[in-house]
Amino acid sequence: MSDLTITRVEAIPYRIPYRKPLKFASGEVVHADHVLVRVRTAGGLTGCADAPPRPFTYGETQRGIVAVIEDVFAEQTIGLDATERSRLHARLHRTVGNPAAKSAVDMAVWDVLGQAFGQPVTRLLGGYTDRMRVSHMLGFDTPTAMAHEACAMRDRYGITTFKIKVGRRPVELDVEVVRALRNTLGDKVELYIDGNRGWTASESARALRQLADVGLTLAEELNPADDVLGRRWLVEQCGVPFVADESATTPAEATRELLGGSATALSIKTARTGFTVSDEIRSLAEGLGVEVVMGNQIDGQLGTACTVAFGAAHRSTSARAGELSNFLDMSDDLLTEPLRIVGGELIAPTSPGIGVTVDMDKLAHYRIDS
Ligand SMILES: [Mg+2]
Repeated sequence: MSDLTITRVEAIPYRIPYRKPLKFASGEVVHADHVLVRVRTAGGLTGCADAPPRPFTYGETQRGIVAVIEDVFAEQTIGLDATERSRLHARLHRTVGNPAAKSAVDMAVWDVLGQAFGQPVTRLLGGYTDRMRVSHMLGFDTPTAMAHEACAMRDRYGITTFKIKVGRRPVELDVEVVRALRNTLGDKVELYIDGNRGWTASESARALRQLADVGLTLAEELNPADDVLGRRWLVEQCGVPFVADESATTPAEATRELLGGSATALSIKTARTGFTVSDEIRSLAEGLGVEVVMGNQIDGQLGTACTVAFGAAHRSTSARAGELSNFLDMSDDLLTEPLRIVGGELIAPTSPGIGVTVDMDKLAHYRIDS
């Protein structure tokens, strides 16, 4: 047994309320009902990562994540050396699904490795830059309320890129929102839309026609990828990169969506592909010559630290603004030092490992298993 032998894996469910619910076409989030995953080693290191269940997208629940880690993944992980990442990966992927649970185990092990080598994981992953521009995601509301939120984010944090949740019926409801945002914020900000599969192909095409003069930069999952021909028809006429998000959660799915003409860009979320599989998807995207966006699985600060650590590590993942700000909607968080968005940017933590520390008092307060 070495100092880096993994001796314990814990899955701790916790609940932190949001200040305001985030609503979108496929669901709504009122509380952060996440699972903190902790990996301990024989030498006394502790790695942490966050697993945010998204039952409406991936089928995982908070209790399900705790159960699969305690019943399956812990046993597969304990006894491995933290440097045996590929072996860990092979073991975890004997089980289908469970993307957030697998990813949190993967990233907690990377956290241990960074601490062991005295390096921030962003350096171990690639070390391209130290920061990312931030994109803020706007959930469903009235045009006035969404424009007000965007202005507040711009004025307070310097954010100038906004992802607008769309996919409501009639499409004119969302078209009006996008127009209101453009009119209020002017031409200096970047706007793009995410439908979370809420529209049909023809509704999506109608919305894109109505928004042709608004200057959107991306369109994401406007209709379901399972509408295979409808999706291909839509992507062919879409004038901007069409991002596959929940339809491309593995390298194989990403390959199928891109080669099948159902997408022309990819969203990468460390919450569902960890650092290890996110890097496989990044390599795939670079090899095939498509753009990527660092997405947000409605992450808290720990999850956001992982996203910016990965995103800043590579040229392709840091080229566009990353979705890094939705932790601002939470009423509290678990970290000792809050992440700070300044001048529209978030700097990847510089301490060894993922580079953040969980506040034990806060964890004791918000955990729901004791
Ligand atoms: Mg999305």
